[in-house]
Amino acid sequence: KPIEQYTEQEASAAALALRNVLEQWSQAYYTADEPLVEDHIYDENYRDLEILEQAFPAIVTSDSPTQQVGGQVLPGFTKVTHEQPMLSMGDVFSVAELANFDQRLRKNVTAEIDYSVELKIDGLAISLIYENGIFVRGATRGNGTIGEDITKNLKTVKSIPQKLSEPLSIEVRGECYMPKISFAKLNERREADGLATFANPRNAAAGSLRQLDSKVTAARNLATWIYTLTDYAALNVTTQADALTRLHELGFAVNPTTKVCRSLDEVEAFIAEYQAQRNQLDYDIDGIVLKVNSLALQAELGNTVKVPRWEIAYKFPPEEAQTVIHDIEWTV
Ligand code: NAD
Repeated sequence: KPIEQYTEQEASAAALALRNVLEQWSQAYYTADEPLVEDHIYDENYRDLEILEQAFPAIVTSDSPTQQVGGQVLPGFTKVTHEQPMLSMGDVFSVAELANFDQRLRKNVTAEIDYSVELKIDGLAISLIYENGIFVRGATRGNGTIGEDITKNLKTVKSIPQKLSEPLSIEVRGECYMPKISFAKLNERREADGLATFANPRNAAAGSLRQLDSKVTAARNLATWIYTLTDYAALNVTTQADALTRLHELGFAVNPTTKVCRSLDEVEAFIAEYQAQRNQLDYDIDGIVLKVNSLALQAELGNTVKVPRWEIAYKFPPEEAQTVIHDIEWTV
């Protein structure tokens, strides 16, 4: 029945059912790196939960997936506490929703807004710490506050500089991914050896990074795109676009497709371009990311408990027909 006809008790029961199923899928996705359903199925159910919680704010629980960054820490890894939390990202699934995001922002700030528009790489978030220009610690996002120390494994990833071109002490963040070619070869080998194959490059990358033996990681040919750092002052920059340029100069792999867009029309053109080209890229993307380019404005807009208010992901529609039946008990 339509949501307007729900009583609070019914909404609460429906939310509980959704949280349970999302939790089960997250466990498989984040902990075992073996998703039970495709991302768009997860996203649709997550959106259903958001709609319910927005209509009935009293039913929100602090352990709801809408209030937490997904991901757990595997036993066997040393835990690290992120000095600044590694957050998730809000998402939209249509240009109309993107326009809403843009209008909301423009209503809240007086300054001109331009956006750094970037590809949304389908890998997993990593943090890299450098002291005096030397790579000293690498970690996963984990639950956003506590991640896994995977320094030894990240030292085997060729695109991560062991030494920067300047002796800076900084923490950078980005995405570690498995190029499509490495993924195809890995699954081919695994099939020949009678081993289970990985569902997609994202899960293969996550499984490869969280290995207790770094030789396994080294053989998997992972790569990175770095897209942010925790303290912009260290690079003396005022925009996201300038930060990317500086990160590249320091020796990081920075995705070259990023574009500064002044209007939503330009953003839409970028989306159309990469939606059409995504199969030709060497790596998987699942959308594009829109970030307020001015760092001062980013700081002014701040974050919610889970996501920055100054950025949003536009997720591409699913490519293949869905292979898993979406059948959640909604009515109570
Ligand atoms: P997210 O993956 O949608 O977005 C946040 C992440 O995007 C960041 O942490 C970062 O790692 C990444 N990213 C890629 N390119 C970036 C760029 N240019 N700039 C900034 N960040 C960039 O959100 P999430 O919280 O990491 O994960 C939730 C998503 O995971 C869901 O939307 C769903 O698609 C997927 N998921 C799937 C299942 C499943 O069963 N299939 C289960 C749980 C979660």
